[in-house]
Order: sequence, then structure tokens, then C-alpha cells
Amino acid sequence: MPEPLSPRELLALDRQHVWHPYGPMPGRAAPLLVESASGVRLRLAEPVEGQDELVDGMSSWWSAVHGYNHPVLNDAAHGQLERMSHVMFGGLTHEPAVRLAKRLVDITPEPLEHVFLADSGSVSVEVAVKMCLQYWRSLGKPRKQRLLTWRGGYHGDTWQPMSVCDPDGGMHELWQGVLPRQIFADAPPAGFDAAPDEAYAAQLRELIGRHAEELAAVIVEPVVQGAGGMSFHSPAYLRVLREACDAHDVLLVFDEIATGFGRTGALFAAEHAGVAPDVMCLGKALTGGYLTLAATLCTAAVADGISRGALPVLAHGPTFMGNPLAAAVADASIELLLSQDWAQEVKRIEAGLWEGLAPARSHAGVREVRVLGAIGVVQLDHEVDMAAATRAAVREGVWLRPFRDLIYTMPPYITGDDDLARICAAVCAAAREG
Ligand SMILES: *Cc1c(COP(=O)(O)O)cnc(C)c1O
Repeated sequence: MPEPLSPRELLALDRQHVWHPYGPMPGRAAPLLVESASGVRLRLAEPVEGQDELVDGMSSWWSAVHGYNHPVLNDAAHGQLERMSHVMFGGLTHEPAVRLAKRLVDITPEPLEHVFLADSGSVSVEVAVKMCLQYWRSLGKPRKQRLLTWRGGYHGDTWQPMSVCDPDGGMHELWQGVLPRQIFADAPPAGFDAAPDEAYAAQLRELIGRHAEELAAVIVEPVVQGAGGMSFHSPAYLRVLREACDAHDVLLVFDEIATGFGRTGALFAAEHAGVAPDVMCLGKALTGGYLTLAATLCTAAVADGISRGALPVLAHGPTFMGNPLAAAVADASIELLLSQDWAQEVKRIEAGLWEGLAPARSHAGVREVRVLGAIGVVQLDHEVDMAAATRAAVREGVWLRPFRDLIYTMPPYITGDDDLARICAAVCAAAREG
């Protein structure tokens, strides 16, 4: 065993050597040191603001839907570890990947038929874009190589995904001029239940029609735009996109990395609209938050188009493609989700969020409180003071990670009513003090 390091030593080394998400080097704000996690609780290595445990309001960036240290997922991981944690996927295959692919095809919208297993959400988006561009090349239309999306989106941090993230105010502003130039519609009008805006629908149709010759695909997050601003829109716009894409020979990609596996109240957000994309990306909750894994699914038509090209293969193959350990846990996580009345749990959380976040409405500085499925958002009328908001939440015994003008929660589905009330109280406190 290596020499044990004290929390103080660990934090000093972290600051000196370890890069954190969206952070400077060396880091400015000290991260909290987590020693273990179980159920909905993160156990800290040393108390902070008098708390040695925090209820997790973030599901570790929306992935740990079943909470931590879950016996079923632990068993799946242990069982697979004893057989093999990894083998290469070129020329070899294995039961966990085959089972998972079959399950994903079974539960996603009907025409999605083939599965490419990638190692992170961003890579699954890269693969989706490569599929779409290659499809048109294979069909002799290489000019169709641009993407269209709406503003306010987020699709990941590698280059193609960055090029379709919100071009203004996002974290990718810096890369204007370096990124591929894509086509942007306005952000969809807000409100899941709002009546569809015909003028906006017309804008979508017009843009797709005007650029059809150069468009490979439209890519959007259906129903919920996550890291781009936590906003919700009417599923009607997804039907508009589907019809316009069909009319103008453009592929449609749904990035369900954040929305998949029940988060919005439907198993996949596409179901709210009753439409299916040609390509779909999944990630985040895919492994119940245990391991990194993502998937790009496509229709038989897309695969068939690619296989008719001069290069009839999809030239992509991550070293850890189809990782058996991750695939086994993902399969167990989906089975666990479907074995319970998950929709009822998400509804229960939705009701609890509406009730618990209502007091924030009357706070000065709060612009809007919105809830959809197991997503609760308090939007401020100013940039949040991250340090103050985080401290306020920790004081309430809750872990939150606000950004921009947003304090939000996406709790694990197993969060009980008392813990949910606590999360809501922390969001309200963070909104007051942030
Ligand atoms: C998180 C996210 C991604 C990127 O996934 P990573 O696993 O972080 O690379 C892409 N699209 C959406 C909608 C996301 O929420």
C-alpha cells in the first residue's frame, strides 16, 4: 500500500498538478475532497461548513441516476471484472457489448438499428457527425458537409461538438475562426408547454431549405438544452425539424446525452415529439454514472449509405471501444431502470421540485423557476457568485454546481422526499446568497 496522504497533502498536490474541468492551472477555488459515496450522499474526507456528507443534487453531471455504490451495479462490475475488464474490439467481440447494443436498439425509437460504442459523449457526437458527412460523400454529394443547429445548445468539448455549441456567450467563443463554421437558427422559444411559434417554425424550415445543398445534418438536443442554458422547448419544433429534413434530404441527429434514460419524464426526449432521428447520441446516464461510455445509434439507411461509398467502412475505432466493464454496467443500469416504475419516480421528483423550488420565485434577483421531469432550474437575473452559492448549498448539506446565471439540480432518481426537500432548500439558499 502507498503511504497514506492527508487531505491537506492531497489538496496541495491537486492544486499543483491536476487540471479540473473548465479551470485555470494552478486551480483557484479549492475542490472538495470526496472519500466515498453511497446512495445519494457524497462523504467528504474532512468536514466543510460543518458538513461531512453532502446530498448530491447533481448526479455527478446528470449520470448517477441510481445513486452511488448500488449493489446491482457493483455486482455487474465485480462479475465482469473477474471475467475481463477489457479486450480490444477490433476482430473480437463479447457478450456485454452485444447485449448492450441489442438493448439500446430495443428501447430507442424504431428505425435506429446499429450501435457504435464510443468512450465519451463528445466522441459519440464526433462519430455522429462523421457518419452524416460520410453518408453524403458515399452517395456522391460531398458538398453536403455543414451542420445546422439552434442557438443555446451544448454538444461537448471536442472540435466538431464545439462547432455546434452556442456561438455566443458560451465557453467556445475563443475558438471562433478556428472551428468549422456551422449554420445557426435562433434558440427555440422557451417553454415545454408553450404553444409552438409559427414564425420560428418557418425560420427553421427556411434555413434548412436555403442551405440544403451544403447541409449534411441538423443536430439538436431534443426538448432540453442542458449545459448551454438549461432551457426547455416545445417538442413541436422537433416535428418541424423532422419534416424539413425529410423534405430537403438532410439527416437529423438528436443528442440525447443529457436527456436520455428518463430525465425529462420520457425514456428518450424524442418520445415527447413522437419523431425519430436518423442518428442518436447517448452517454451520461448510460452506465448509471459508473464508467465512461457513450453510444451513437443510426438507422439501417445511414449504415447502408456509408457502406455504398468508395471507402465502405466507418473509419473510427477508439482503443477502448466497447469496453466490457462499462458495457456490463450499462446493461445492468438500464435493466435496473426498466425493472422499476422509473416514470413514477421522475414524476414524484418533478412534483417535489415544483413544491420545493416555489419559494425561490419571490426572491429578489430570481428571473424564473422552471421544472421538467427530474430537472429543476432557478435562473437569476445576474451571473451567479459561484463561491457564495456553492458555500450556501454546502451549508445546507447539499452539493450543487451552478454556472452562468443558473442554479439547478438533476438529482438521482432514488432521491427520497426528505433529501429532495433538502436539495430544494439548498437551491433556494444558493439563489439567495449567490
Ligand atoms: C455532456 C454532454 C455532451 C458531452 O459528453 P462528454 O461525455 O462530457 O464528452 C454532449 N452533449 C450533451 C447534450 C451533453 O449534455
